[in-house]
Amino acid sequence: MIVDSHCHLDRLELSRYPDGLAGAIAAANEAGVSEMLCVCISDENRQAVLDIAAAYPNIYASVGIHPTDVSDEVVSVETLIEWSRAAKVVALGESGLDYHYSADNADNQKQSFSNHLIAGGQLGLPIIVHTRAAKEDTIALIKDYGSTESAGVMHCFTESWEMAKQALDLNYYISISGIVTFKNADELRDVTRQVPLDRLLIETDSPYLAPIPYRGKPNEPKYVRQVAEYVAELKGVTLEQLAEITRDNFHRLFSRAEQARTGLAEA
Ligand SMILES: [Zn+2]
Ligand SMILES: [Zn+2]
Repeated sequence: MIVDSHCHLDRLELSRYPDGLAGAIAAANEAGVSEMLCVCISDENRQAVLDIAAAYPNIYASVGIHPTDVSDEVVSVETLIEWSRAAKVVALGESGLDYHYSADNADNQKQSFSNHLIAGGQLGLPIIVHTRAAKEDTIALIKDYGSTESAGVMHCFTESWEMAKQALDLNYYISISGIVTFKNADELRDVTRQVPLDRLLIETDSPYLAPIPYRGKPNEPKYVRQVAEYVAELKGVTLEQLAEITRDNFHRLFSRAEQARTGLAEA
């Protein structure tokens, strides 16, 4: 069974499913996708993410502020800790730095990311890191404020092997999205070949970045199967092996997921 380690279920394009999100989840289950991590990007969508996770046993939630959603009022460590108490929360994020889409508020992004890292360390929760055009600052902040025990994941990774190596050295996992199937993604394919199997995750980042042959169409969790098939071939393992390995990795990193699923976290 395959895990989609990063998706935005509150933003899916659902017009093809008469019963809405339930239909998309059922389609994913039919494609062998058994678990999903629904990722929060802002205070505005936080409740929607938590509600979705509450409605499905095998869907987990994160809480946090995406770097491009950082406002002048940066989220505090205390607020993140408060948010993390909701049921089904297995990670903080997605946080990080995105200088490609918004470089003018870099200081606020850095403050926000630092606070996520500090809160994660205090809570023992991993951080879902979004990083774009901010290689050095991302690694520097993780070194300064991050915990190597709870660590986190570099999601939808598109950077160099050099950065992947630095993240791996900090105990981070590397998550590969459908971008790896794109024609111009030779460098990412090379990175994927080099990431140790026991530190690899796969994701859709749906509704964005559908893998080939669905590129340009709305993405959804069931297409993590195409990512899995592609990555399995790059790694020289079977789809079943890749699915099992990345599922084990997911549960090792997001160690609260099993408890969250069986309801023990709420007891
Ligand atoms: Zn992201
Ligand atoms: Zn995302």
